[in-house]
Amino acid sequence: MNLILLGPPGAGKGTQARFLVEERGMVQLSTGDMLRAAKDSGTEMGQIVADVMARGALVTDEIVIGLIREQLETVEASGFIFDGFPRTLAQADALNDLLAEKGQALDAVIEMEVDDEALVARITARATCGACGEVYNDNTKPIPADGKCTNCGAENQFKRRADDNEESLRTRLMEYYKKTSPLIGYYYAKGQLSKIDGLGSMDGVKAAIAGVLDNT
Ligand code: AMP
Repeated sequence: MNLILLGPPGAGKGTQARFLVEERGMVQLSTGDMLRAAKDSGTEMGQIVADVMARGALVTDEIVIGLIREQLETVEASGFIFDGFPRTLAQADALNDLLAEKGQALDAVIEMEVDDEALVARITARATCGACGEVYNDNTKPIPADGKCTNCGAENQFKRRADDNEESLRTRLMEYYKKTSPLIGYYYAKGQLSKIDGLGSMDGVKAAIAGVLDNT
């Protein structure tokens, strides 16, 4: 089962991908996480993308397709969750080709619908545990007062993303509407698109995704 989670920044793609990894043993391929790791380790590619990411613009297709190609060539899994990829039509075409080379196909595309006001509120309130990636939110799931992650127990490892500020968020949203949202029509026309309400509770969204996967 190969799945794309599609939606604007802050729609909850990463959170839901983590559940699918835990509960279904799928492998999450997040180009955002891969790019942040490259940036943090100071590789040449990391240095090239750092400024683009800080602004909230899209990294070139060539770079992100290369990252996904490398993963698909080396990792075996019963299913991949593509989180934050593809973000352009060229990336979507490349993904079809890469999966076909592996003798696989895309099974489902789930669009997580969330309104823009909610996105801004969510993103400016979010934090994660640097040790395990557990996601927190100042309003709905605040960082514990004792400073210990509720998932892994790590102490004071909480961090906020450098691009989770209003200015870069505006650019990220614009990039989404200009370059990524055409994928909704693209996958609809291919008969692969399912839409779910991404605004419900975490468990509600989880159940909606499970409903799509179990009927695919
Ligand atoms: P994300 O963690 O998915 O929100 O991605 C963070 C940032 O990484 C984005 O704002 C882009 O700058 C870059 N990025 C991640 N995935 C892609 C992609 N598929 N294509 C282009 N840029 C990407």
